[in-house]
Amino acid sequence: MDYRRLDSTYSLSSRVALLRELRNLTVLDLAKRSRFPIKRIESIESGEETWLSVTDRQVLARALGVEPAVLKEVENSPADYPGVFEKQEGPQKVDTDSMAEEILNGYTNIACPRCSTTLKTSVEFAYDIEGNPTKFARAYCPQCPFALR
Ligand SMILES: [Zn+2]
Repeated sequence: MDYRRLDSTYSLSSRVALLRELRNLTVLDLAKRSRFPIKRIESIESGEETWLSVTDRQVLARALGVEPAVLKEVENSPADYPGVFEKQEGPQKVDTDSMAEEILNGYTNIACPRCSTTLKTSVEFAYDIEGNPTKFARAYCPQCPFALR
């Protein structure tokens, strides 16, 4: 095998495709050898999957006749992108407009956006700044300071 050609393929997708071609394997052949579904091979070669689990890497490397390290060195492991897979923390933006609309439409079973407790809701009748009678949605959380005013 001409491993030098691998040096120019710096992505998992192209490296898997090249190794497969160097082995004269079709996608179906590789799927059979690795016992991966054909779709899985296709998504790896199309770049949708950019890293493999340890077990999957071993299986695929064996099917391609290379060391797992040959695949690992071109994987984009989630560890390379700290934060991408972490849950976003911080205050959530609350869509108060749609919440108000739900309340005005008669929904009462609305969860607090902060603590998920069912909100106490009410509809208030009042006059807007032009003096027209209008409805306002009111909601407050019995568990936390959240309130819709
Ligand atoms: Zn709450």
